[in-house]
Amino acid sequence: MAGAVIINNELLDTGDLPGCEIGHMVIEKDGLECNCGKRGCFEKYASMKAFKNNLRKALGYDETFSGKELLALIKNTNKEDNNYRIIQKVKKEFIENLALGISNLVNIFEPEAIGIGGSFVYFEEVLLNDLKEELLTKNLLFNPRKEINIQTAVLGNEAGIIGSIL
Ligand SMILES: [Zn+2]
Repeated sequence: MAGAVIINNELLDTGDLPGCEIGHMVIEKDGLECNCGKRGCFEKYASMKAFKNNLRKALGYDETFSGKELLALIKNTNKEDNNYRIIQKVKKEFIENLALGISNLVNIFEPEAIGIGGSFVYFEEVLLNDLKEELLTKNLLFNPRKEINIQTAVLGNEAGIIGSIL
């Protein structure tokens, strides 16, 4: 989960080092171990990979159950189905973590827009509204907002980016 910050149409210059390691912002003290060597990194909780893996695990599927199949399952499961509560629980947890990390960035940069890429783009229809609602109504923002501009398609699905556009 790589990130970028764009200020006045220019990428934030972090010098010789890559910087903007948004995925490795710690959101849980002594949390899950990350492959960067730290614990509690944002991407361990709020990357699409984490979401899909958590969902597969909770539903009893292995990694051969594709993202496409997961999306279809989320869309076609209604309240009467046994899986409904499981899906809602995993989704809620994911949205809470994603919103927490994004709120940290919003509070620092007060961006005009936030861009999210990666496979979030495919899941936009089942995640984006919940993400916005979480950000706007859960007392996460230092400066409360009525609206939040989250762009998905712009960055495409290859980028794997969460960026803040100022
Ligand atoms: Zn990490």
